[in-house]
Amino acid sequence: MDAQLHNSSNIISPARTTGYATQPPLQRFLADCYEEFRSDHSGAVADYIPELKRADPAHFGIGLVTIDGHIYEVGDSRVPFTIQSVSKAFVFALALELVGEERVSAAIGVEPSGEAFNSIRLTNDNRPFNPMVNAGAIACSGLIHQVDGKAAFARIHEKLSQFAGRELGVDDAVHASETETGNRNRAIAWLLRNYLVVQGDVDAVLDTYFKQCAILVTARDLAVMAATLANRGVNPVTGVQVIAPNVVARTLSVMTSSGMYDYAGEWIYRVGIPAKSGVGGGIVAALPSQMGLGTFSPLLDGHFNSVRGLKVCEALSARFDLHMLNRSSDVRTCIIADYDIFGIASRRSRQPHEQQILDDRHSDIRVIELVGALNFAAIDYVTRRLAGEPPNAPLLILDFRRVPDLTAAGAQLLGEKLTILGNAGVTTILTGVEPTSQVWSAIRDRVLEPRRLRRFALLDDAIEWAEDQVIYRYGGFTAQKETTHLGEQALLAELDPEEIAALAELSTMRRYEAGQRIISAGDPANSLFFLQSGMVSVKLPSGVRLASLGPGMEFGEMAIIENRRSADVWADTAVKCLELPLDAFADYRQLHPQISMKIMRNLSALLARRLILANAKVDLLSAY
Ligand code: GLN
Repeated sequence: MDAQLHNSSNIISPARTTGYATQPPLQRFLADCYEEFRSDHSGAVADYIPELKRADPAHFGIGLVTIDGHIYEVGDSRVPFTIQSVSKAFVFALALELVGEERVSAAIGVEPSGEAFNSIRLTNDNRPFNPMVNAGAIACSGLIHQVDGKAAFARIHEKLSQFAGRELGVDDAVHASETETGNRNRAIAWLLRNYLVVQGDVDAVLDTYFKQCAILVTARDLAVMAATLANRGVNPVTGVQVIAPNVVARTLSVMTSSGMYDYAGEWIYRVGIPAKSGVGGGIVAALPSQMGLGTFSPLLDGHFNSVRGLKVCEALSARFDLHMLNRSSDVRTCIIADYDIFGIASRRSRQPHEQQILDDRHSDIRVIELVGALNFAAIDYVTRRLAGEPPNAPLLILDFRRVPDLTAAGAQLLGEKLTILGNAGVTTILTGVEPTSQVWSAIRDRVLEPRRLRRFALLDDAIEWAEDQVIYRYGGFTAQKETTHLGEQALLAELDPEEIAALAELSTMRRYEAGQRIISAGDPANSLFFLQSGMVSVKLPSGVRLASLGPGMEFGEMAIIENRRSADVWADTAVKCLELPLDAFADYRQLHPQISMKIMRNLSALLARRLILANAKVDLLSAY
C-alpha cells in the first residue's frame, strides 16, 4: 500500500515551510508544536534493550487522525520504530474479543499498580494488576496463545495491521535483542506460569510477547490506530470494523487508569485523554468520537514516557480544551422546530369541506423536527417536551431527516415514551428514516404497540397521511364527490352561466387510468384541465411532488402565462377531466374580452394563496 512508509529518510517537510498560512488550523498547531518541542533534548533513549540504544534522539513525528479519517502529520511521522508497550492496549482489546471478558478478568485485573511497568509484583490473588504492565500484557499474549498456539503472533500482527490500516513490519534485530536480554520478563512469565495465569509453553508465550513489542509502526500508524479506538472500533481511514465495539470502552478504561506507567494519575489529571506509551518512544492517545493522536520521539523521561510526546499531548489538550471530563452540551438545540399544522399543509390540495376540518383540527397534528446525534440527555429532553396529560395531539410526527445517529440509551428512552403515548391513543410517525436504517429498527424494536408507530421517508407524505386520518376521523371522506359542473372550479369563479356553457362547449372530455402521465414537463403548454373526478399529482421530473389535486381543481392552468409545461402531471387514480385548448379559448376571448379579466383575476388569487402558504412554511422554519 504505502511503499514510502518504510523509507526512514522520508521526513515530511515540517513546520512553517510550504503553505503554512493556508494550512488548516490544526495542521498549523501541530507544526507549531513540532517547531517548539524539537529543541527540547531532555530525556534519554531506552537502553535496557541494547538494540533500542540505536534510536536517533533527533527523530520527532506527530500524526493526528480525525474521526472522519483525515490525517494530519508533521515531522518524522513516517519513520518506523518499535511499538513496544503501546501494543499492550491493542492486544488487550484482541484478547477481550477473542476469549471474552470473563476469561480475561479471571486472569488479569484492571487496577493501577502504581509501580513501574516491569514490576514483578502481583495482586493478592496472584494476578497481574492490569493489562498495561508487562505481567498483564504477557498474560494477554498467553490467552491468545492458548487459542492459537504457534499462530498467536500471526493473529496479533494481523489485528494490529488492521488497526493501522496497512501491513506492519517487524524489527527482527530488536526482537532478537530483547529475547537475549529479557530475563526479567522471563521471570515474570514463569511466576505467572506458577499461578496458572499463563498456561502451556512459557517460552512460546514470551516469544509472542517479545515479537509483538518489536512490530514496527510510525506516528501516523499510531494515530490511525488511536482513531480506530476513538471511533468504536471502526478504522476511519479504511472503514473496516477492526474490533468489536463492546471491547473498546474497556480498552480505553485501562488506558485511562494505567496507560502511562506510574505517571497515569498525573496524566489523566493534566491531559485527560486515554493513552498508552512505549519505550520505543511512541504514544497513542484516543479521544472518543473526536480523534486519535500518535507521537514518536525516543527521548524518554524518568517514567519511560516520551518527553516531546507528552508535551504535544498536553499542548493539544490545553489549547483545545480536550480533557474528556470537560464536556457539556445544550440538549435543547436538538429540537429545531415544534409546530402543529396551522397555516401549513401537505402538498395535497383539499376539497373545501376537508380543508375546513383541517383548519378546525390543526392542533391534532404535531410536528417536531429533530437535529443532531441524539443521546440519552437529548431524548430525555424530547420526552419532557412531549409531556402533558392527556397528550394534546393524537398524531405526532417526529422528523429524523437531520438526525445522523441515535444512541442505544436514546432509543430506549424514546421507545418507552412512544409506548406510553401509544397506550394513550397517540400515533407517532417517524420521517426521514429508511426502513433499513438502524434508527428505525432501534426505535421500532422498543415500541410495544407497533400499530401506533409508522414511518415515512418524506415529511410531506407523513403530514398528508396524518391529515387524511384527521379528515377521516371527522367524517370528511364520506363525500369524496365528483364535480361535473365547471362553475365549481376556482379558476372559473364569477363567470356567467353562458360563459361557463361556452367553455364547456370548447372543452373535450378526457379519461386517464391510474399511473398515466397526463402532462410532461418541457412539452408546449397549450391547454388547461378541469378535474372532475379522481386525483392527480403535480411532480417535478425528479419525483418531488409539488401538489396533489382532487375534483373541482384545475391543473395545467399555468399555460395561460407560460409556453412550456414546467412539471409533470400524473393520474393517481382513474381520472376524468375536461381539457380546454387555449387556441379555441383565444378565439372566444376575442369576442368576450371580460372573461379574460375574470380568469386572470382568479388565477392571481390562486397564485397569491400558494405564495402565502409557501411563505408560511419558510417563516415557520426560520423562526426556530
Ligand atoms: N518490550 C518491552 C518490555 O517488556 C516493552 C516495555 C515498554 O514499552 N514499556 O520491557
